[in-house]
Amino acid sequence: QATTETRSFEAEVAQVLHLVTHSLYSHKEIFLRELISNASDACDKLRFEAIAEPALLAGDGELRIEVSWEREARTVSVRDNGIGMGRDEVVANIGTIASSGTRRFLEALSGEQKADARLIGQFGVGFYSGFVVADRVTVLSRRAGAAAGEGVKWESDGQGQYTLETVELPERGTTVILHLKPDEDEFLAGWKLRSLVQRYSDHVAFPIRMPKETADGADGAAGAWDTVNSASALWTKPRNEIADEDYQAFYKALGHDFNDALAWTHNRVEGSQSFTTLLYLPAQPPFDLMMGGRDERKGLKLYIKRVFVMDAAEELLPGYLRFVRGVVDADDLPLNVSRELLQQNRQLDRIRGACVKRVLDLVEKLAREEPEKFAAFHKAFGNTLKEGIAEDAGNRERIAKLLRFASTKGEGAGQSVSLDDYIGRMAVGQDTIWYVTADSHAAAAGSPQLEAFRARGIEVLLMSDRIDEWMLGSLREYAGKKLQHVAKGELPLDESEREKQEEATKAAEPLLRKLKGLLGDRVAEVKVSARLTDSPSCLALADHDMAPHFVRLLREAGQ
Ligand code: ADP
Ligand code: MG
Repeated sequence: QATTETRSFEAEVAQVLHLVTHSLYSHKEIFLRELISNASDACDKLRFEAIAEPALLAGDGELRIEVSWEREARTVSVRDNGIGMGRDEVVANIGTIASSGTRRFLEALSGEQKADARLIGQFGVGFYSGFVVADRVTVLSRRAGAAAGEGVKWESDGQGQYTLETVELPERGTTVILHLKPDEDEFLAGWKLRSLVQRYSDHVAFPIRMPKETADGADGAAGAWDTVNSASALWTKPRNEIADEDYQAFYKALGHDFNDALAWTHNRVEGSQSFTTLLYLPAQPPFDLMMGGRDERKGLKLYIKRVFVMDAAEELLPGYLRFVRGVVDADDLPLNVSRELLQQNRQLDRIRGACVKRVLDLVEKLAREEPEKFAAFHKAFGNTLKEGIAEDAGNRERIAKLLRFASTKGEGAGQSVSLDDYIGRMAVGQDTIWYVTADSHAAAAGSPQLEAFRARGIEVLLMSDRIDEWMLGSLREYAGKKLQHVAKGELPLDESEREKQEEATKAAEPLLRKLKGLLGDRVAEVKVSARLTDSPSCLALADHDMAPHFVRLLREAGQ
């Protein structure tokens, strides 16, 4: 047939396919979640496009997903009557890798990082997970609005090539047919597929239908259908009607995560502007976060009156909360809102403010009531949260209150001391929160600068995370107390100490002059100091100087 052609995958697709099929084996059943998630996205897209162009629904407005299997043919199929794809879209979406997220995924996997099933959905390579259980995948698709003769058949064994053919398809939407590998028969059973749908996709907002099972357990390819998921937009229900398991199941589908969420907050705001937020804290950092990617943020879906509009994490959450996953459903935004308009929408500012407040409220509640969860949160996201000190001046004090640090009065390298703990232990008359920064905890804890503070029983916070110096640039004060590097400013001396220092300075006058002469321009001043007890000398900084290891970091970065 003239319309059939064979093409090769883009080199990177072949690589992704290989990695996905080899690394996902222990979680192979997630192929179903990923295909259903794509089908649900396709229904979302059609519903959205149909607002401007109702004719796209063409008499079939009941959007749905169907999962079926055929024992004889040994296939499992996932069908949707969503947006569908034209020929070019099929090539672009499943023959090439468009998103830079996928490139990062590849880089991550080809590096030391062990391939992990959690990566797959999060990086938009879900479609390929079908090849974990199938040795051949067929996609039949017809774009909404296209004629029956413009259907596309795509087929591949996942070995580097695929074929493409124009075919006649009676209905719009997409069918993905998995031709199962010889030892994957377990998926040819209705109960098995059903339990997977319920486990991973229960709260997909469209009905997922499966063939009614007959007494003899025959094929599920035709006949009557049952809806097997709850098909509810979970966030629209009242909180007291939602069980924890429902929240967790919804999170897993939303965040493409196998693990439970750490905590969540679900709120409805009524008033001149009404909206619902359901926001989750993951238990572990999502991979995009670990790789430092601040661009192309995913994870917060914007709905308008239950219609999915776009992934709007960047518009709805500041960078320092980019680990949050969830849903925002607004009642009053125009449905045809574009990303550009969103960025300057007043209503959105309010929603954004509410999201930030809810997340901070939630973290504060964990700190107050669930110390173990809070510790897990701080371990996973504490350093990301620190960015907020510089980024969100309006919430600086609230964020600072949530941070925990290692300290000379804490336990080892553990970060468990809050600024409030520190203030609670301050000596009478002390008005400064002292800290030291270094490249490592050991270097911070071993700094000779600490001697004078130890001798006087003054606590010092030990900072050794890369972000700390930058954060401290914006955190000059907390609760009316100044924060200061131990190498800067004047030590708190009492009357007799001050007298002693003056005498010592007088006595050492010739030595100091000689040293200054020897060191020349390399130092600004040579002084007698009360900072030391054991070491003979140390470098000290003027108030406006940068900390020595920060200078080194800048030099390494070529500044
Ligand atoms: P992601 O869903 O994160 O984009 P996938 O690998 O799961 O990544 O899917 C790749 C792309 O293929 C989708 O973005 C979409 O454009 C297209 N696609 C996959 N399945 C369908 C479907 N059922 N209907 C329409 N388009 C689909
Ligand atoms: Mg997908």
